[in-house]
Amino acid sequence: MIIVTKIGVTEDEVDQIRERVESAGLRTHISRGETHTIIGCIGEEDRLRRLPLLSLPGVESVHPVMKPFKLASREFSAGPSRVPMGDVEVGGDELVVIAGPCSVEGDDMLRATAHAVAAVGARGLRGGAFKPRTSPYAFNGMGTRGLEILARARAESGLPIITEVMDTRHVEEVAGHADVLQVGARNMQNFALLTEVGRVHRPVLLKRGMSSTIRDLLLAAEYVMKQGNMKVILCERGIRTFETATRNTFDLAAIPVLKRETHLPVIADPSHAGGRRDLVAPLAFAAIAAGADGLMVEVHPTPDEALSDGDQSLDFQTFGDFMNRLRPFAAAAERTLAEGAPRPVRAAV
Ligand code: PEP
Ligand code: MN
Repeated sequence: MIIVTKIGVTEDEVDQIRERVESAGLRTHISRGETHTIIGCIGEEDRLRRLPLLSLPGVESVHPVMKPFKLASREFSAGPSRVPMGDVEVGGDELVVIAGPCSVEGDDMLRATAHAVAAVGARGLRGGAFKPRTSPYAFNGMGTRGLEILARARAESGLPIITEVMDTRHVEEVAGHADVLQVGARNMQNFALLTEVGRVHRPVLLKRGMSSTIRDLLLAAEYVMKQGNMKVILCERGIRTFETATRNTFDLAAIPVLKRETHLPVIADPSHAGGRRDLVAPLAFAAIAAGADGLMVEVHPTPDEALSDGDQSLDFQTFGDFMNRLRPFAAAAERTLAEGAPRPVRAAV
C-alpha cells in the first residue's frame, strides 16, 4: 500500500501519517519527490483498512500496489532510487563502472588491477573470494584470505569493493569486509540467502538467474527489501537460451523493462553475458543506450592465465581503451563517467 501526499505537505504532516501507520504495526518507507512524497507501507495491509487515512492532513490518495512485487515496484518510490556503494552512488546521473577479476587470485594481482581500473575511471572493484563454479574440481576461490586481500586493495586504491556471498553462514563475514554484497545468478532464488543479506543492511548487487524471468528477478529483490534492506542494485548478465555462439544470451530488453517496472538501479554485466572478450564493448555500449545505470566488467592483469573466466576478461590496456570508447555513449545517454585518476593511497584499516 502506498500513501501519496498532497503538494506542499509539511514535515509534521508526513510524521503524523507515518506514526499512524506504524502504530498499526506496519513499517514505513518515505520517498520524497519534487512535488509529492510517497509513504510506502510494509506489513499487514488489512490493518490499514481500518484507519481513516484519507482524512489525515496532507494525504491525497491511498493505493494498493497491484504488482506482485511491491517494495521494488516503480510506484513505491517517488523517483529512481540511488544505492550507495562506498562513497559512490549507483542510480544517479553518473554511469558507474565496476571492474576487476572474476576471482581474487592474490594480493599483487588485485592491487595492480585496482590501480589500473581506478586510473581510467572505474568506481568500484569487483573480485570473487567465494566462487560458484560449475565443476567442484575448479578453483573455488580464496575464501577469507580473498576478503582480506580485497579490503587491502580498497584501502590502497580508495575503490569500494563488491564481492559475492554464496552461503548464509558467510553473510556476516563478507559484510564485514565488502561495500556491496553480490548475490550471483546461481543463487538468485536462494531465498534463505536473500533473506539473510536483507538483514545485514549492506547494499546488495543481485544478478539475474540464468533461467529467471524479469518478474522472478524483481521478486527475488523483494525478498531482500522485505527485510528492510532497500539498497538493491539489479544486474542483467544474460540468460540461457538455445544459442551456443555466446556463453549466455544478453537480454537487452530487460534493461528498459526493468527501468519501467522498478525504481531500483539496473546495471549490466557484458562479460558474463557474452563470455567473450570481443563482445564486452558492443554489449556494454548497447546496455548504456538501453538505459543501464552502470556496468560490471571483468579485468585481469593476464587474462590468459586467469584461474576463472579468462576468456571474457579484458587486460589493462584493453580496459583503458574500452573506457575511452564508452565516453561518447555515456554522453549520448546524458550520463557522466568518472575521469580516471590514480586514487590516494590510504593506510590499511
Ligand atoms: C561473477 O560475477 O563472477 C559471477 C559468477 O557471475 P554470475 O553469478 O552472473 O554467473
Ligand atoms: Mn566471472
